[in-house]
Amino acid sequence: MDQHDVSPGPSLDVGKALANRVYPLVRPNLHSIRPYVPGRPAKDVQLEFGLTDVVKLASNENPVGPSPHAVAAAQRVLAALNRYPDGATQDIRHAIAQHMNIAIDSILVGNGSDEVLKMLSETFLQPGDEVIVPSPTFPQYAFGASVMDAKTVQVPLLADFQYDLPGMLEQVNDKTKLIYLCSPNNPTGTWLTHKQVARFLAQLPKHVLLILDEAYREYIDTEDPLDSVEFIRQGWPVLSLRTFSKVYGLAALRIGYVIGDPGIVAFMDHVREPFNVNAIAQAAAIAALEDQDHVKHVQSANRLGREQLYAGLRRLHIPFVATQGNFILAEVGDGRAVFEAMQRKGVIVRTGFPGIESYIRITIGTSEDNDRCLTALAQALA
Ligand SMILES: *Cc1c(COP(=O)(O)O)cnc(C)c1O
Repeated sequence: MDQHDVSPGPSLDVGKALANRVYPLVRPNLHSIRPYVPGRPAKDVQLEFGLTDVVKLASNENPVGPSPHAVAAAQRVLAALNRYPDGATQDIRHAIAQHMNIAIDSILVGNGSDEVLKMLSETFLQPGDEVIVPSPTFPQYAFGASVMDAKTVQVPLLADFQYDLPGMLEQVNDKTKLIYLCSPNNPTGTWLTHKQVARFLAQLPKHVLLILDEAYREYIDTEDPLDSVEFIRQGWPVLSLRTFSKVYGLAALRIGYVIGDPGIVAFMDHVREPFNVNAIAQAAAIAALEDQDHVKHVQSANRLGREQLYAGLRRLHIPFVATQGNFILAEVGDGRAVFEAMQRKGVIVRTGFPGIESYIRITIGTSEDNDRCLTALAQALA
């Protein structure tokens, strides 16, 4: 960025001139941060290509939708929008605590787990501190570190997208404060077993906090699933991130949370805004949590969709990564070209993950969505 040496001239508008003058006031570490690029909204693509019906399989959204009970609970809040929400998020934390059989003080709720991630960074990171993450993974860990002027050390996943846990341990030094492990990992779908994390924790130096992002944990249907609550109960320096955006289908409401030892979680309350979680989200999340039948329905739909996409990808001879999430990473050659060709057919997927440009990530949709996706993919590759 070199906006500060743009010389003022007659064509330069006032806004630009002001921006240039203010440039030196902005914290220098912010200049290198690139804004998060979300999956393209279906409406944009619909307008651009003159399509009537677009399928968005780009943001790992739940294709089934929220529980009808959650929708009803959200509606019941609407008449009281003049009131501030419960700043202590008492009822939703109570519901989570009961559901998971943990203490209410081990839970902190945020405006999506995105906000919780930022609070983690604000609580623990100073300029010069280091954070270790796998690569590729969810970009918000590095974002939080950049905002605080901390350094993110990226440890590439291994050839089969397995986590390089010894490689991550090797990167730990005196400046390391946080290690992030996302399991199942976005965007690869690969996952860690409980035993793998137990071994990792046993080797982790005492001054480091391990953050397990389990946004997709409810989709796991394999052996030895990670049980972060057990680690927390045993007193390991572990925090677990959860969200209502995925299996509970409440992405639009923005509600997620962290669980950990109450002693650790209490520090994060120092950076929390007074009313960080809106009232609609709190009410809907409680109802969503109570509707575990809906969760089971979403889980089984995801399993069926996964098998459908696996079979379709095999038919097309497209290699893919076995997943425990609600998305599949597939190797298509030129990811960008395939993404664009599929978009013209009205199917939005995701590509451009750093270091794996030959892949696209497909969110598992409804059976019709998946069929359309496979058809568009076949056409894109033809
Ligand atoms: C989707 C996702 C989240 C959830 O973010 P919210 O802010 O709660 O919507 C968190 N972590 C990962 C890895 C994700 O993919």
